[in-house]
Amino acid sequence: MKPLLLRFFVFSAALAAVPCFALSLATSVPAGKRYGLVIHGGAGVIERAAMSPEREAEYRTALNQALQAGYAVLDQGGSALEAVTAAINLMEDNPLFNAGKGAVFNADGICELDASVMDGRTQAAGAVAALHHIKNPINLARDVMLKSEHVMLVGDGAEKFAQSLGYQLVPNAYFQTDWRREQLKKAQEQEKEKAGKKTAALPAAPVDYFTRTLRWGTVGCVALDRAGNLAAGTSTGGMTNKKYGRVGDAPIIGAGTYANNATCAVSATGWGEFFIRVGVARDIAAQMEYRGTPLRAAAAATIAKVAQLGGDGGVIALDAQGDIAMEFNSPGMYRAFRFSDRPAVIAIYGDEAKN
Ligand code: ASP
Repeated sequence: MKPLLLRFFVFSAALAAVPCFALSLATSVPAGKRYGLVIHGGAGVIERAAMSPEREAEYRTALNQALQAGYAVLDQGGSALEAVTAAINLMEDNPLFNAGKGAVFNADGICELDASVMDGRTQAAGAVAALHHIKNPINLARDVMLKSEHVMLVGDGAEKFAQSLGYQLVPNAYFQTDWRREQLKKAQEQEKEKAGKKTAALPAAPVDYFTRTLRWGTVGCVALDRAGNLAAGTSTGGMTNKKYGRVGDAPIIGAGTYANNATCAVSATGWGEFFIRVGVARDIAAQMEYRGTPLRAAAAATIAKVAQLGGDGGVIALDAQGDIAMEFNSPGMYRAFRFSDRPAVIAIYGDEAKN
């Protein structure tokens, strides 16, 4: 009996190994295929005249580190999703960016974080919003996608889910920096000034207090791996002085983040209210899907819609051929890309590389 049973197990184990082997063959690298990634570190009023050479060098170094980390994953045969999270993790950990450590403050004087990811191969997606204690929100967004039956979790519930997976919560002070605290102070002073000028005949526009100059630094990444799969991710602290549990576009699938192998991967940054209203990321993919519009033209048309409504910001986008778009209507956008057949490019201002 025993040897028979043993033979049965050996046979089943051998059978089980066959699909694994077939899978690894199926995902092996087609020779000469382009792979690579594009990242952003936020769009906004980013101008040469207002940037010291030291600060600029810090941003270029930080972008380069994130870019190379993501590229190394792809180069070693990792998935687009892994590259996206690797690149975003580095930017979340860097206080220069408005994501993770260094996020902007909300009106209550704390950092409140949003993030999302999407896998272009399966169109699986995960998103988190209003987090106060998760060091790397993009990782939790990925885990919502991979380990829960939901797409979006918010606030305490999301953090409970994180704890159930063994995440350590960090104190909110971990995210807080003096630079961003100063920005909150300025935003609140401006808000008070504006409130003083308000008259009954001229009510302030509902989004009037959002200042265009105090919120840059959201981070995002789109990647294409050696197997031809796309992924996108975005992580942010949102907008300085945001109130009442405000959530922007970054964690909204179809607005701040979208990926589908059949069209493109997109990560957005900018004035979130407008990006949600336009459905920016999905709008770019939809033009490609329904009309066959090329990626760059689609991205430009969508950003024009944002501008027409009065919003500003930008997107990075990438299709399955490895064509890219880095489109924005703000003065600058921190951005970088690297592909297997193109060396790294790092750009900040409007007059530098856009593709
Ligand atoms: N889109 C982000 C938000 O509205 C902010 C930004 O990208 O600057 O929350």
